[in-house]
Amino acid sequence: MQLTCSKCGEEKPEAEFHKEQRWWCRKCCAAYYAAYYQANRAKELARSIAYYQANRARILARKRLTKAAYRKTLACQAANNRARAKRKGAKGTAPKTEAILAIKEAQRNRCAICHKPLRKGRYHIDHIMPLARGGSLDSRNLQITCAPCNLRKGAKDPIKFMQELGYLL
Ligand SMILES: [Zn+2]
Ligand SMILES: [Zn+2]
Repeated sequence: MQLTCSKCGEEKPEAEFHKEQRWWCRKCCAAYYAAYYQANRAKELARSIAYYQANRARILARKRLTKAAYRKTLACQAANNRARAKRKGAKGTAPKTEAILAIKEAQRNRCAICHKPLRKGRYHIDHIMPLARGGSLDSRNLQITCAPCNLRKGAKDPIKFMQELGYLL
């Protein structure tokens, strides 16, 4: 039995038609769906490009924020410390983030120097004996301080620094 495709107008054997699609031949159907798919793809692409352009500033700001937020995390500080220590050829092994968190817990989340509560993302990992003075990377040489205390301490001799603050005699 021959059927006539209403799209291309050709008369073809029944086998060239889908069972449930008798008015267009298989070839015409395939071409139609391919075109439909292409058109949709282009539309989807255009939509996502338009969305990105309209929200570019916001999307970039969020990316920057995520990076800035990451910089405040202990994991980031720990990684920086390990990299810095490697450059300086410091001795010992830099502990993993969990070990540093344990130190912070042991300090009851307070600065090891001024004892004020450590604010989220505002504390530093301090080498008690500064790396610059040959201090080790080991967790025994670490304490968690607030940013101002750590910056004030810098690479000073830790005993002298604490004496200056009136903590040690
Ligand atoms: Zn056809
Ligand atoms: Zn402090």
